[in-house]
Amino acid sequence: MTETERKLLDAVNNGNVDVVKELLKEPGVHVDCLDDQGMTPLQHAAFRAKKEVCELLLAHGADVNSNYHKDRYSCLMFAALSGSKEMTRLMLDSGAKIDHVNNVGRTASQMAAFVGQHNVVFVINNFFPKEDLYYYTVPTGLETEARLPSELAPAMLKFINMSNLHPVKLSLYLNEHPGMLKCWYKVVKVLELLCQNSMRSKDTNDILAMKMHYFSVVVKRAAQSYQEENDNLNPWIKKLLNGRHGDGFPEFMERFIRQVLKEFPFSESTLLHTMVKLLADVTIGHEPTAFSTMAQGINGQRSAFEDNSPCGTCGEFCAEKKCSACKSVSYCNQVCQKLHWFTHKKFCKLLGEEMKRMEELRIQREKEELARQEQEDKELEEEDWYESEGEEDKENKKVVNGEKSSENKGNQLKSPDTPVKENKEPAETKTEPDTS
Ligand SMILES: [Zn+2]
Ligand SMILES: [Zn+2]
Repeated sequence: MTETERKLLDAVNNGNVDVVKELLKEPGVHVDCLDDQGMTPLQHAAFRAKKEVCELLLAHGADVNSNYHKDRYSCLMFAALSGSKEMTRLMLDSGAKIDHVNNVGRTASQMAAFVGQHNVVFVINNFFPKEDLYYYTVPTGLETEARLPSELAPAMLKFINMSNLHPVKLSLYLNEHPGMLKCWYKVVKVLELLCQNSMRSKDTNDILAMKMHYFSVVVKRAAQSYQEENDNLNPWIKKLLNGRHGDGFPEFMERFIRQVLKEFPFSESTLLHTMVKLLADVTIGHEPTAFSTMAQGINGQRSAFEDNSPCGTCGEFCAEKKCSACKSVSYCNQVCQKLHWFTHKKFCKLLGEEMKRMEELRIQREKEELARQEQEDKELEEEDWYESEGEEDKENKKVVNGEKSSENKGNQLKSPDTPVKENKEPAETKTEPDTS
């Protein structure tokens, strides 16, 4: 490793993108230079979850499958150990081999599970490798044409690797890739084959099978609507979003996803049984919804708790904008908000009022809690005081302090050895908390 390469490594580890960019231009700097452990800059960046640096190194041709590390750890393994889902996805998208094993025969997914990075495990296990899809872009055997037109393959690969399974999100994606809607029968056929293969292979994977089945039904139904509406997918998206009369619950979407489950071709699947059981006694409009059941079944338990403000339109996590009128629905952006407005406007006022009520209740509860706490503290202090009165030797000083200005025991107790309540007002705690 040259002096400049050493500098490069430092900049990589510090996440200093600009310096990395400059150093990569220097002559004789090798993007895959190895340190004394056999680690490349990309592996360092992956381990430290420096996303921008990783992207830069990859753009400069860094080898995502470099295999010179002393324990044969790969970039994917380092990304997995970092615990970053984003980083893991980046490595997978860049062609990292999923089945590469380290010195002790462990894959990246197994390593992540071993250190408790379950979100990462899920990302790796759900990743659909490029080769497995591109296989269908070449005619095999007696076929005269490939099952999947190769120009559709990149969009389709991205589609089946989407982890947000919200039908609106999937439909919005299809809307941006009308080629998939126009050739929907081919796309659906391939998805159905992928579903069957996941159940027929040596190690059956009903999660992947369910995902492929679900996606195939979404494409089919979206494409049918697209054709009926003269190449317009908006009516379909609005159908999915439409809230029912009364409470705004998207009943069509609920029924649609339940139907997807009914149509799953492998009735013996344990995953299917679990999901059906979860929904069996749920009246439409109650929790869990079919969508959350589907998302948890495919993405694993944890994803549901990752974020409590998903986009009201497309289910995307970490939606930061809120409807300014009711403050109760989050959106990714204005596009999502606009899309939802036709149905949300019927409930915005109601939701806003409820939000206000909930806020008032919250404040009331906090007040009560505070009062209770203060009363408890007060009682504790009284106990302390009586105890200390007994332990004369040890607590002599305290008692003396307490007795010195002996006009009122209650007030006295507030002051000496109880710094915790200093910032609360003793006056309020004189009565019992619940005098109503
Ligand atoms: Zn959204
Ligand atoms: Zn609103």
